[in-house]
Parts: sequence; structure tokens; C-alpha cells
Amino acid sequence: MVSDATTPKKIKKLSPGEIQILWADGHETRHLAPLLRGLCPCAGCQDEMTGKRVVLPVHIPDTLEFRKIELVGQYAVHFEFSDGHGTGIYSFEYLRELCRCPECAR
Ligand SMILES: [Zn+2]
Ligand SMILES: [Zn+2]
Repeated sequence: MVSDATTPKKIKKLSPGEIQILWADGHETRHLAPLLRGLCPCAGCQDEMTGKRVVLPVHIPDTLEFRKIELVGQYAVHFEFSDGHGTGIYSFEYLRELCRCPECAR
């Protein structure tokens, strides 16, 4: 479902390892490369049989950076990271879900 809450207006790189997304509903979320990498939704980062995550944020060095950020159609963002991993497609909904601000945590 398309709604303002899952429609990014702007994606800004704050530093090599952090991006900020401004959403159409006015909310802002920040995302660190190591965390996003550790929550990568691609098939290689989780066990196909069990759906259990193989890669976790604790496995990723804090120094990881974004190498490439590009939109995938109207629904997702593709990230390539400095460790060479770049098969994860992060839907807007998923990115919005990852917001850890007090408002979204409620
Ligand atoms: Zn992955
Ligand atoms: Zn939030």
C-alpha cells in the first residue's frame, strides 16, 4: 500500500556511513550503514530453509560505509556497501519500519 509514511521525499547522505530519509509525511529517519548491512533482506543473508538470519548487525564492523545508493522503481532502495555486498533491496516499508525514534517505537 502506498502512503505518505512509506514514500521518501529525499534521501540524503549525512556521512559515508549514515543516510537520512525525509518521508512524505514529514518524518525523518536515519540509517547507519553497518545496521542496514546487518539487516540485509537478501537471500544470502538469511537461511533459505529456516528464514533465520545468517548475518546480524553484530557481525558488521562499525566502519562500514555506503558505496552506492540507488532507487529501485517506486518501492525500494538498493544499497551497495564498502564490504562489496550489494544484493539487498530494501523496500521503503522496511526502511520506515527500522526507524528507532521514540515516536515509532511506541
Ligand atoms: Zn544480503
Ligand atoms: Zn520514527
